[in-house]
Amino acid sequence: MLMKNEPAMTPETSPDDDVGVPVSVKIRERIKASRQRFHSNDNIAEFIRPGELDLLLDEVTGKMQGVLDSLVIDLENDHNTGDTARRVAKMYIREVFNGRYVKGPAVTEFPNAEHLNELLIVGPITVRSACSHHFCPVIGKIWIGVMPNEHTNVIGLSKYARLAEWIMGRPQIQEEAVVQLADLIQEKTQPDGLAIVMEASHYCMAWRGVKDMDSKMINSVMRGVFLKDPNLRREFLSLIPRKN
Ligand SMILES: [Zn+2]
Repeated sequence: MLMKNEPAMTPETSPDDDVGVPVSVKIRERIKASRQRFHSNDNIAEFIRPGELDLLLDEVTGKMQGVLDSLVIDLENDHNTGDTARRVAKMYIREVFNGRYVKGPAVTEFPNAEHLNELLIVGPITVRSACSHHFCPVIGKIWIGVMPNEHTNVIGLSKYARLAEWIMGRPQIQEEAVVQLADLIQEKTQPDGLAIVMEASHYCMAWRGVKDMDSKMINSVMRGVFLKDPNLRREFLSLIPRKN
């Protein structure tokens, strides 16, 4: 495929040594050269050059085609699965795991002009992810509690949802996802305290495995004053209207 916005050739990507190298290999080499982690729930956007995400989509389509072939599905004659490889590749890269491949949402932080110092709770925010063990959906809700101080930055309520979507749009582990989200909100807003509760259904337990349709996993992260002050923690937990 000819790309209109082909990135300018740089010394390390001369046309000669580059031909036939899968784009995933090039991206991986760049990540390794800068000694960064690239686990399933890490964001790798800074290593992807303009136009490469489309090439990655082509590459994953080809590999998915191989998986379907190995599952002995007649891709030539089955009208249902003819385009499945492309659909799945697109779903992974552009949709459900997009939070790995694109930069974080732009979030404008404002100074806390009103000197708000009361507990702020945002939620429930619906979150959609997939477990990194089975690539099965993880769907649930989170609540975020923020205890601001006069130096805390203020961000719009909808921005918490955007940040959560970016973190959850990766193959995740629930315990690590809430920590990643807490780190991100902490960095953006610098509050005195931060609390996050996540409650989610893991479809790898409903669709396969123990086939338990009702169990949910609940976990939380508490930072700053939420750790030190049991009353504040109790107040937060009593204000989040979880069902069941
Ligand atoms: Zn799983």
